[in-house]
Amino acid sequence: MDSLKIGKFISKCRKDKNLTQEVLAEKLGITDRAVSKWERGLSLPDVSTMIPLCEILDINVNELLSGEVLDTDNYKKLAEENLLEMKKEEETSNKKMILYEYVIGFMASINFIVLIFVASYVVDNTTVSILLFILAFILLIIGISFALKIETETGYYECSKCGHKYVPKYKDVYFAMHIGTTRYLKCPNCSKKSWQKKTLTK
Ligand SMILES: [Zn+2]
Repeated sequence: MDSLKIGKFISKCRKDKNLTQEVLAEKLGITDRAVSKWERGLSLPDVSTMIPLCEILDINVNELLSGEVLDTDNYKKLAEENLLEMKKEEETSNKKMILYEYVIGFMASINFIVLIFVASYVVDNTTVSILLFILAFILLIIGISFALKIETETGYYECSKCGHKYVPKYKDVYFAMHIGTTRYLKCPNCSKKSWQKKTLTK
């Protein structure tokens, strides 16, 4: 998406409505610095702000994302393009999150192995060994919890029975059997249990 074009468009619509950046920001419950950043193309309004912003400026979300007023011919084409682009951006950022999950999981495992090794073979003192064992397990659990939190909140799980895509509860993901990021979960739509693949977009 062309944030510079969108910024100019927001600025133009705001002036057409005789609003200052301050007044627009106040109506949206955000800082005027945020409005100024949009208008300079430095950032885009987040999804929750888009709809109230469009209402105030008398435009629709597609026009906002296209950075121009659309006639009906252009409307459908650009609507699809904008949807695809948002999907692509979601996918890219979700890919990054899954990578973080792998890195955290990997580090937690290495850390665990090293601590267990040190506790078993390097340290002579029994008390210190036990403390290191406990520390190793605590850090492993923290690492795994953190990685699974990312996994739960990134993208969706797809039911292999009915194709429903959804975000499950954290505790269901935590205790589910898994192969990689494919998990054995109960679908909230058809209530059947199956191996459900992770997908990054709806
Ligand atoms: Zn299902």
